[in-house]
Parts: sequence; C-alpha cells; structure tokens
Amino acid sequence: MLTDKPYTCKNLAPFYLYGMYETKKYAVSIKNHEEIINTLTLFCKDKKIKGGQITGIGAVKSATLRFFNPSTKQYVDKTFDEQMELANLTGNISLMEGNVYLHLHAIFGREDYTALAGHLLKATLNGAGEFIVTNYSLTLPRVKDAKIGLNVFDFK
Ligand code: FE
Repeated sequence: MLTDKPYTCKNLAPFYLYGMYETKKYAVSIKNHEEIINTLTLFCKDKKIKGGQITGIGAVKSATLRFFNPSTKQYVDKTFDEQMELANLTGNISLMEGNVYLHLHAIFGREDYTALAGHLLKATLNGAGEFIVTNYSLTLPRVKDAKIGLNVFDFK
C-alpha cells in the first residue's frame, strides 16, 4: 500500500535508510536561454512532484557551481560565463518546509574538452536542454542537519 511517506526499513539496514517508490517519467525540453534550476523547479511545482529524480544534458552559456567546505559549513560559489556542454546533470527532487527542493550536481565540458563539476546553483541554457524527470509519486522529505551543515533526507 502506498502512503505519503517512503517506506523505511531501519532494523534490516543498519548503515542506511531507504524509500521505495512507484515512478512516472517525463521528458522535458527547456526553452533556449531559460535558467535551468528555476525552470525545473517550476515544472516540479506544476506537476506536484514532491519526490523524484532528474537527469539531463544540453548546452549552457553560464553556470554557477558551489563547493561545500565541511570545516566552515559554508558554500563557496563560482560563476563561469562561457559556452559549455552540459555533459551530465543528475540529482533529486524532495520537499523541504513545504517547498520543492532540487539537489543537482553537474559536469560541464569546456571548449578545450576539459570538465568542470560541482553542486549546481544556476545555469542558463544556450542550445538544447533535455531532461528526464522521474516522479516517485510520494514525498521525499528533506531537513536541515545542523551538525553536518547540509540539508539531508529525513526518513525519521
Ligand atoms: Fe550538493
């Protein structure tokens, strides 16, 4: 039976918790020159997706990546204004304090064929943007973990 909370199996899995879901997939083409994170967030809100997964490829003219420093518990942001291939975008969709929360990482290919990678904060399309969005049809809850300094899955 499906509920609005993921199934958990605390006793059988001492090293992790997990959720089991039924899935529904969408192929999403984002229009040229749109900002990727805003657009994917709008799509998830529109389709009422509260738990799921996103993968994607495409091309961008600008991207802001973040790097988390566990010692300071702070992110350092850096923007790259150049044409790049979105070689891979991967991440998940969850719900935090009632809002859609996307956690996305990306790898960008530069003109010299080297790669940039990191936690994706913002990226503007310049070319095609093709994404597969999987709806788990259940809520994947997220909560702030003050000890780690990050927002993590909440299976409690
Ligand atoms: Fe991240």
